[in-house]
Amino acid sequence: MPDNKYSNKSLEKEEKLWLLVGMGYTAEEALTAMDKCGPDTQIAELTDFIYAAELEKELDVCIRELPDEEDEKSYSHPRNLEFLSNKKRKLYKDEKQGSRGLWRSSKKQECGTERRIYIPNPMIGFCDPDESWPIVERKLPEAAKRLPYFYYENVALTPQGVWSKISRFLYDIEPEFVDSVYFCACARKRGYIHNLPIHNRFPLTPRPPRTIQEAIPWTKKWWPSWDGRTTLDCIHTKSGSAKLAERIRQALEEYDGEPEPPRHVQTYVLAECRKWNLVWVGRNKVAPIEPNEMEMLMGFPRNHTRGGGVCNGDRYTALGNSFQVDTVAYHLSVLKEQFPNGINVLSLFSGIGGAEVALHRLGIPLKNVVSVEISEVNRNIVRGWWKETNQCGNLIEIADVQEVTWDKLEQYVSSFGGFDLLIGGSPCNNLSGRNRVSRVGLEGEHSSLFYEYFRILDLVKCIMG
Ligand code: SAH
Repeated sequence: MPDNKYSNKSLEKEEKLWLLVGMGYTAEEALTAMDKCGPDTQIAELTDFIYAAELEKELDVCIRELPDEEDEKSYSHPRNLEFLSNKKRKLYKDEKQGSRGLWRSSKKQECGTERRIYIPNPMIGFCDPDESWPIVERKLPEAAKRLPYFYYENVALTPQGVWSKISRFLYDIEPEFVDSVYFCACARKRGYIHNLPIHNRFPLTPRPPRTIQEAIPWTKKWWPSWDGRTTLDCIHTKSGSAKLAERIRQALEEYDGEPEPPRHVQTYVLAECRKWNLVWVGRNKVAPIEPNEMEMLMGFPRNHTRGGGVCNGDRYTALGNSFQVDTVAYHLSVLKEQFPNGINVLSLFSGIGGAEVALHRLGIPLKNVVSVEISEVNRNIVRGWWKETNQCGNLIEIADVQEVTWDKLEQYVSSFGGFDLLIGGSPCNNLSGRNRVSRVGLEGEHSSLFYEYFRILDLVKCIMG
């Protein structure tokens, strides 16, 4: 929509449709949302609606709103989870009322007898990060209890059947779905399947800022009152373009003499800001967050991905794919007591070392880390960090997961007595909602590397067993 065509009338139906289609939704999704939500609904709410509808229809998940007190008895619990006391349930409810309402429109579902995966709303996982006790009690299947510990990660919102299949391969363990917005100032909805204990978790300190305004305080000066965002959306591998920032500037400048731009301009600007995680850096000026800011939001040390020939594009890609360190560290914190003398780790798809950084920040000594990562840039980043942090252990690097053979693993197991933790998140390229071209599911070219994770876990278990 050319900016000079803005009128003071509220945004017409076609314009909203145009915006939504421009944001990557299909015309059908956009029209359904507009029909269901009514003519005055803002773009942000329409995108929430589409997201929720997508979740309910397309994905292999049921959104679990907690049962009301009266129907609590008839509520059928997911297999391994049993909800605890009313007090803790209230915690969920309070949080839900205060939440951004992503799934406001979702209703309680009859999930039938078919095995379904449940995503909690709010997406807070098994524990509230402000408490050390779990909100749910889980019973691990027997086969999953044997060591080593393992921890698998991928995007929460996947196409049909993906999480149930991953879970089937990983000993039928129920995934723990967590949005990192409960840990830091940006969202990151991820599922984690692991056999770690879930009692006595503790968060990393200092706790990271939970709002954009605290995390990037200098943006406050330029933040318009009509932009109510306090947290960022998920950090992705691509950042918004300079052209877009310029279009936004021009759209706003037309209304410079007025207290604020008209609602339809606000709606347009906010939709783009949300989509591209733009922040206010000057009068009428938005910009994508910078790699340094991304590092801080994701829990990495400053300049973790900087220098050594790493270009900004690589930094965006690496950080867009990485673990949110505070979130993962919270789950791994239970290992601290168990491994005071250090831990042996098999880190698959290591990326920029989210797992290694999390363990280090928890104060768990890294004895032997076998790190498997195909990108040379990423391997250089992890090696650089290893040296800078004066690690006393050994870092063994392997490029491709397919090179991780029985022989190699047997050799490591006999040389340092086995792995304590196998950790990794396989590529999400064919699973992520951002990928509208080749979102073909777990069998996709990249996402099928999950089976390598499973193969290697199985080998390690056999060798150690
Ligand atoms: N958890 C990581 C990021 C995982 S993203 C972090 O905290 O940074 C998935 C990673 O798998 C990417 O870094 C990608 O380069 C790597 N990868 C893709 N194919 C691979 C292969 N065949 N062998 C090893 N690593 C691979």
